[in-house]
Amino acid sequence: MKGRLFIIAGCSGVGKGTLLKLFLEKNPEIKLSISATTRKPRNGEKDGVNYFFISKEEFINSAENNEFLEWAEFSGNYYGTKKSFVEKTLNKGIDLILEIEVKGAAQVKEKLPDAITIFIMPPSVETLEKRLRGRHTEDEQTIQKRLNEAKREIEAGKKFDYQIVNDNLEEALNNLQKIFDAGVNKNAER
Ligand code: 5GP
Repeated sequence: MKGRLFIIAGCSGVGKGTLLKLFLEKNPEIKLSISATTRKPRNGEKDGVNYFFISKEEFINSAENNEFLEWAEFSGNYYGTKKSFVEKTLNKGIDLILEIEVKGAAQVKEKLPDAITIFIMPPSVETLEKRLRGRHTEDEQTIQKRLNEAKREIEAGKKFDYQIVNDNLEEALNNLQKIFDAGVNKNAER
C-alpha cells in the first residue's frame, strides 16, 4: 500500500509553519518533504533541514534534467520538490506532506490527482499583514510583494479540496487532524 500525498499551501504569514510543526509533533509517522530553493537561508534555517539551499545554476540544471515533480518561482526565488524523494517515500507506505505554494500544488494535483490539497486561509488580509510585519524577517519591499502574492494565493486556495481558516491555532490543528484521520481506513489495510 502506498503512502498518501498531502499538499498544504497557504500564504506567507498565515502561520502554516507553526501549525505544521505542532501537527507533525503529534503525528511523527507522517513525513514533511524538504524542498530545494534558491532563496537565501533566514536566521536559524539549516541546509538539509528547512530546505536544500542551492544556487540558481544548480536549480536550473535539476529542472532541465526533469528531476522536479513540480517547481515554481515565488517572490523572486525558485522552489522545487524532488521527484525521487516523493516516489521513494510514498513507495515505502509513508504519508508525505508537501508544503508548497499554489502553482506547484496545481502541477502536482494534475500529475497525481489522488493528492489531497489543503489550503490554510488567514482570517483576513489585515491579520496577515500584521503577522507578516510582526515576524521581522522581511524588508518592506518583500512584505509588499508577499502581500500581493497572498491575495492571488487566497483566490487559488478556494479551489483546493479543503480550506482551513487559521484563526484559532488549536481549532485549525483539530481540523487538520480530521482531514488526515478521514483516510484512516485506507491506512488500516496496509
Ligand atoms: P518561504 O520563502 O517563506 O520559505 O516560502 C515561500 C513559499 O514557497 C511558501 O508558500 C512555501 O510553501 C513555498 N514553497 C516551499 N517549498 C516549495 C516547493 O518545493 N515548491 C513550491 N512550488 N513551493 C514551495
